[in-house]
Amino acid sequence: MSQAANNDCVFCKIINKEIPARIVFEDENILAFYDIKPKADVHVLVIPKKHISALSETQENHQSLLGQLLFRAKEIAKQMGLSDNFNIVLNNGVKAGQAVQHLHFHLLSGWKNPHQL
Ligand code: 5GP
Ligand code: ZN
Repeated sequence: MSQAANNDCVFCKIINKEIPARIVFEDENILAFYDIKPKADVHVLVIPKKHISALSETQENHQSLLGQLLFRAKEIAKQMGLSDNFNIVLNNGVKAGQAVQHLHFHLLSGWKNPHQL
């Protein structure tokens, strides 16, 4: 696992402003931006600025950061007026549909979820 900026990682490039994104939130630890191929009416990605490849690679010392990411997703939903209508999704591992190997939560609203429980 590497936590430095990964040269091959598209999300690290977005964090470093090497490629553009429609940013909705930024602080010291977190960036949130609209997904380039939205799968729902609203589709935002909430990511750590540290390059962590997947949830399964997180360590004890990432617990606060994980809480911050989830809380921020909720705050963004609230600010967008979505408090009664959103999903948070995290794909872990290529076989589970993780296409970008930089930890991210999907914040979706109006998602037609084919796997709804
Ligand atoms: P995953 O399948 O890894 O859980 O989700 C990756 C998400 O990143 C996909 O929904 C995909 O559309 C989005 N994505 C991939 N490349 C880019 C990009 O360059 N910019 C933005 N804004 N989203 C991207
Ligand atoms: Zn990265």
